[in-house]
Amino acid sequence: MLNSKTDKSERLFTEAKKYIPGGVNSPARAFQAVGTTPRFIEKADAQFIYDADGNKYIDYIGSWGPMILGNNNPGVLKAVQETILNGLSFGAATEREITMAKLVCEMVPCFEMVRMVNSGTEATMSALRTARGYTGRSKIIKFEGCYHGHSDGLLVKAGSALIAEGGSPDSAGVTENCAKDTLTAKYNDMDSVEKLFQEYRDDIAAVIIEPVAANMGVVLPKDGFLKQLREICDINKTVLIFDEVITGFRLAPGGAQELFGVTPDMATFGKIIGGGMPVGAYGGKREIMECVAPVGKVYQAGTLSGNPVAMAAGIMQLTNLKENPDIYEHINTLGEKLYGGLAEIVKTAKADCTVNHIGSIGTLFFTGGPVTDYISARKSDLKQYAKYFQHMLNNGSYFAPAQFEAMFISNAHTELEIKKTLDDAAKFFNI
Ligand SMILES: *Cc1c(COP(=O)(O)O)cnc(C)c1O
Repeated sequence: MLNSKTDKSERLFTEAKKYIPGGVNSPARAFQAVGTTPRFIEKADAQFIYDADGNKYIDYIGSWGPMILGNNNPGVLKAVQETILNGLSFGAATEREITMAKLVCEMVPCFEMVRMVNSGTEATMSALRTARGYTGRSKIIKFEGCYHGHSDGLLVKAGSALIAEGGSPDSAGVTENCAKDTLTAKYNDMDSVEKLFQEYRDDIAAVIIEPVAANMGVVLPKDGFLKQLREICDINKTVLIFDEVITGFRLAPGGAQELFGVTPDMATFGKIIGGGMPVGAYGGKREIMECVAPVGKVYQAGTLSGNPVAMAAGIMQLTNLKENPDIYEHINTLGEKLYGGLAEIVKTAKADCTVNHIGSIGTLFFTGGPVTDYISARKSDLKQYAKYFQHMLNNGSYFAPAQFEAMFISNAHTELEIKKTLDDAAKFFNI
């Protein structure tokens, strides 16, 4: 095995666990679900990532999406380096924030106004508060297996690392009162949405959805599903929110809403929008966004929101994406090769597996499928995923350490890495 040396990661993990719960600052980083030690990362460059023991991996996480241009993109680094010389944060308005706001309003179809925050969690939490303030209603609909960050009201049937931990997907510490206004529907199942509207019609402020789910593994919306959501929200004067924290600026410059041609009332962003810095954003129709303080009565604030360094990184990354359509062509072509190749391998091996993918993101599920929602995703054989993960890691492909996540391809990846990953996957499936 290429990357079997883990002494230093193991030492660091032991030390980390003394001071940090589980040794990690986010559960998605724990390797609990795959039965091995998290690799402590020392550095990353372009399509590769390196751990503390000197192992080199092809990076298929890319910081969970933000590194769409590849790690250490020179333009983004330069923008950050130039900006820090003038100060890290002012807690005051800057011209850069206008540049960023204009840029995302040009790129994202539903954006007439935008507010910057510091994470995807803040973005979804604030978008929902705004939708409630705008409509004067209290309930929201979310979908089983969709993850929208860790705010209280959204930790209900939420996917991602919550599923991998097993047991109850809902968090301790979330009171029934916080969760009672969160209604859950089934992904790709309009009947389940219609039933909720029949029962709570006048009290549903918002429907929030990942337009392509990526936190129960990648699950695509069925033909017409997003459009039907648009229609039912129009009829009921409910705010439709696309959580594009993963799909935004990835599936297209304008995200899933551009790709599928369905425009929500609001959208939330994170991950890619900050170029690797902690950034989130929520925005939408002017009429809705003008409910936000200091113009309107919905309070939302942030000491470090829109800070100059984060804006500089984000502006550079998004400008790059906006001006270079060939980036999308490249990552989507590689996506076709990688996920198409994996699908071919599991078919040849007659393995009970399903590959879902769109563009540069995808998931190999260890279940015969089809995987169209939370229930079908959860049929996956997690022990098999753990074995596959370890095999791939030891051979130099760094995947998400849990079944219910996406793989990410960046613009720095080339066919060489895809081929190596496919060869190693073929070995795992004994073909
Ligand atoms: C990651 C993620 C979030 C939360 O973003 P953080 O920056 O981790 O708070 C919200 N929604 C989706 C779809 C995500 O993938």
